[in-house]
Amino acid sequence: MRKRIFLTLCLGAVPLAAGQQPAPLVTEAPAGKWAIVLHGGAGVIERSSMTPERDAAYRAGLDRAIHAAAKVLGANGSAVDAVEAGLRVLEDDPLFNAGKGAVFTAEGKNELDAAIMDGKTLDAGAVAGVTRTKNPISLAKAVMEKSPHVMLIGAGADQFAASVGLEQVNPSYFFTEARWESLVRQLKKEGRPIPPRPVGVPPAPGKPIAQLETPDAHKWGTTGIVVRDRAGNIAAGTTTGGTQAKRFGRVGDSPIIGAGTYASNQSCGVSATGTGEYFIRLTVARTICALVQYKGLRLQDAVDEVIGGELTAMKGDGGVIAMTPDGQIAWGFNTTGMFRARLVEGGTVQMGIYKDEP
Ligand code: ASP
Repeated sequence: MRKRIFLTLCLGAVPLAAGQQPAPLVTEAPAGKWAIVLHGGAGVIERSSMTPERDAAYRAGLDRAIHAAAKVLGANGSAVDAVEAGLRVLEDDPLFNAGKGAVFTAEGKNELDAAIMDGKTLDAGAVAGVTRTKNPISLAKAVMEKSPHVMLIGAGADQFAASVGLEQVNPSYFFTEARWESLVRQLKKEGRPIPPRPVGVPPAPGKPIAQLETPDAHKWGTTGIVVRDRAGNIAAGTTTGGTQAKRFGRVGDSPIIGAGTYASNQSCGVSATGTGEYFIRLTVARTICALVQYKGLRLQDAVDEVIGGELTAMKGDGGVIAMTPDGQIAWGFNTTGMFRARLVEGGTVQMGIYKDEP
């Protein structure tokens, strides 16, 4: 109990007294002020399966990321640079399914996908199946800024990363014991072959380490950020290890512009998380922005229509974060939880994990 109070105080999240209502979410950012909304994945994430320590660790990770993005924006940095800064923090955090901590493929590898889009210019960069570049979001940004292309995949993408001086690592860098155990559990359950333990990683511990999340949440944990800078420009980015036990070079929605990632100053910015196969077919990110742009929907209504309506009707699962250039901020998900946070310049971080939080 004492530990719980300590962690809560550290994070500044004051527990609500009985009957006390949480503060309503800030849904609008005033003109001229920067704003950030981010997610750390959606899925079967329930209070009953989270210890207070685990809950606090996730919140601390989201908090670090949002403040990294805020630092860039506070120094009059661009929306694109803020997205990169925030997502690098989540890629380096083993709790999230991006960069270090990415889920494994069925062959026991980490294949990383990422995308970034600049709403001011509609420039975009994306990578898929990266195995050696430490921060795939920086590679996506380099594709956008330093190549004539929008999307690079596999070994070629890593080769380009090295050519522009981005840090390369041995693929074993991405290994985490928690993700490995989760993969083995899933493959066993599905009666699929277990790949050999990757080369160059620490020896297997004698007994399984404590599970970090529910098995289902392990499959997700993708990270994404949408920001508006002081100049009023929107940018969005998403970075992920994809879905656990994926096969055959599978690529999800995250690096696909218009599906898992989209940004336009004419409409909105979106980053998605969930089972990518649905988000690709529904072009979720672009559809939300098209509803805002062509039908004049309020952002939250557009999010609800696509996530609560189309995605749910298709039996797809997941959620999005979104923001418009005029400062509307929204999120929506049809799972039991989504790691999420928002911050408007001069305000305080509003954060949630479970469905019953605002
Ligand atoms: N959308 C990602 C994918 O399908 C997974 C996730 O969001 O967790 O690759």
